[in-house]
Amino acid sequence: MAATTRLISRLAVVTGGGSGIGRAVCQRLASEGATVVVADLNEDSANQTLRILTHDLKGQDHMAAAVDVSSKESVEKLVTSIQCRYFQPPSVCVNAAGITQDDFLLKMEEADFDKVIRVNLKGSFLFTQAVSKALVACGAPKGSIITVGSIVGKVGNIGQANYSASKAGVEGLTRTAAKELSRFGIRCNCVLPGFISTPMTDKVPEKVISKITSMVPLGRMGDPAEVADVCAFLASDDSRYITGVSIEVTGGLFIG
Ligand code: NAD
Repeated sequence: MAATTRLISRLAVVTGGGSGIGRAVCQRLASEGATVVVADLNEDSANQTLRILTHDLKGQDHMAAAVDVSSKESVEKLVTSIQCRYFQPPSVCVNAAGITQDDFLLKMEEADFDKVIRVNLKGSFLFTQAVSKALVACGAPKGSIITVGSIVGKVGNIGQANYSASKAGVEGLTRTAAKELSRFGIRCNCVLPGFISTPMTDKVPEKVISKITSMVPLGRMGDPAEVADVCAFLASDDSRYITGVSIEVTGGLFIG
């Protein structure tokens, strides 16, 4: 099937869809024919994403919704409301919601550690669990769950003890979910972005950015669309024999 139509008739939900990588994923999935539920803590930015999605392919009926991925109640409410509206659970789920709260290990407050783990790791767990429960309950033939980790979950990063731990956890969660859910036809894979130009990295000082960029073999920061391309591949049947893997999207940063 042509790359531009390979997600026709698929229902997808993207957390963190109101900004950066999540927004680019929503755009890419919609451009390939999926109906997209843009989910974000910030409902206004979710609605902004909704307004820029293409609606011109068969049967597309996107929506935006508020969700707090760190709250089981909020996550379950969203998954229920999706099923009420579309009479099916989403068969594609991209967990892109995430936060940073950086500080040196010696200074980091316990509350900042907990907050990042709660959103990045527990949020990915809650969302993955709620979507996969719904898929299993309705006997859906297949599903693709994609988590967004980070290369720093593998290599660590100064000032990010909480964030790198959360992202290492996301990889472990994804591999375990892949093992448990494969018998239900649900694949689970993780993308590991390197340094991508988004509002999250806008906070990083210019000096640090140019140091990082000089270490990237491809010589530049990544674009959110370049992460979205990989998510679309993992969402589609083009990756039907791939589960439990992490794909680095880093321009070659930290090869090997
Ligand atoms: P971003 O800040 O642009 O977008 C993150 C989005 O998540 C925001 O719209 C925010 O409102 C939403 N969000 C935050 N907390 C939430 C919650 N509790 N519930 C629901 N939504 C919530 O960041 P980004 O750079 O696009 O990051 C997207 C994902 O990619 C994150 O998981 C991030 O950790 C990961 N990542 C980013 C980079 C990078 O260089 N930008 C690198 C590696 C990994």
